[in-house]
Amino acid sequence: MVEGKEQANHGEHRGRRELNQCKMKRRIAKEVKVGNITIGGDAPVSIQSMTKTDTCDVEATVTQIKELEAVGCELIRVAVPDIQAAKKLGEIVRQISIPLIADIHFDYRLALMAIKQGVSKLRINPGNIRKREQVKEVVQAAKERKVPIRIGVNAGSLDRKKYQELTPANLVASALDHIKVLEDLDFTDIIISLKASDIPITIESYRLMATKVDYPFHIGITEAGPPKRGSIKSAVGIGSLLALGIGDTLRVSLTGDPVEEVKVGCEILKALGLRPGLDLISCPTCGRCKVNLIEIVEQIEEEISRFPLRGTRFCGSSHLPFKVAVMGCVVNGPGEAKEADIGLAAGDGVGLIFRKGEIIKKVKEKEMVEALIKEIKDE
Ligand code: SF4
Repeated sequence: MVEGKEQANHGEHRGRRELNQCKMKRRIAKEVKVGNITIGGDAPVSIQSMTKTDTCDVEATVTQIKELEAVGCELIRVAVPDIQAAKKLGEIVRQISIPLIADIHFDYRLALMAIKQGVSKLRINPGNIRKREQVKEVVQAAKERKVPIRIGVNAGSLDRKKYQELTPANLVASALDHIKVLEDLDFTDIIISLKASDIPITIESYRLMATKVDYPFHIGITEAGPPKRGSIKSAVGIGSLLALGIGDTLRVSLTGDPVEEVKVGCEILKALGLRPGLDLISCPTCGRCKVNLIEIVEQIEEEISRFPLRGTRFCGSSHLPFKVAVMGCVVNGPGEAKEADIGLAAGDGVGLIFRKGEIIKKVKEKEMVEALIKEIKDE
């Protein structure tokens, strides 16, 4: 009888979360393979970043890529400003396990070299390559090696001779020019990005482009700024697009450590229920709180940041984030803690620990962090 009731509670608990999950209807884009990652279709939204090292410094670049992979980066782009950098790409590819993307501007020879070196994707705007024969050569090589091409139109690089004003219509028109160059050569392994630092322009551009083509979208807010400001702008911009069902891979662009870019990307996806992992919910505290909740939450966050990311039950076993709620009093505490997978509702110097909606333990304030972490690890 008790068992039946527990199962019913757990079912209800799951049901509520699955309901939340159903609210976003995703734009279904064409599937494009980038190495072992699928972008588009119903593939999970992938996270990518870009190295900030000198690409010619293979050791530093590989070290940074591995750091990014460890926090959830699934594709990595490197700048290829010259032929020396292009020649180093193969060495990098051989030392990493996520697909490598070569970021190239104007020079078709760099694109040919990058393909030869084994990259999984090119970011290049074919309309910016001077001669049609040169574009043809790049497209032919990309086709042979099954290397997709991302067309990336940014506000800063919009051709202002042809498109004087920075508007969504002009960003889309510019991207369509580049797309046409590829389609005329019968190449359709295309991914598109339309980025501006202005959030409304970015959102409207992607919305408009979604009515024109079915290619997958790489989304982001370009030049978003330093980590704090840039994370907020990225969360608003990328989050809005994802909530509209738009976006197949994302990059958060911050003036700072790229590890932060990936972490922010993970948090955006988790916040929308689009990526498994651990989601920490905590109340802001107020005059009703009778424990030092800010310190408790800081300690819990510190502990969970050390959990391994991949191959763990927190990342791999569910399509939903694993929710941990830490609440400061009996007003909202028990309700929120019950909704989470693991919850803590604090009272006056004590707290109740919940697991899947059921109270399982009462602990003193100084035992809260350890007890909660133990429950998370036992999950
Ligand atoms: Fe205040 Fe309690 Fe709400 Fe936390 S849960 S903000 S302590 S009322």
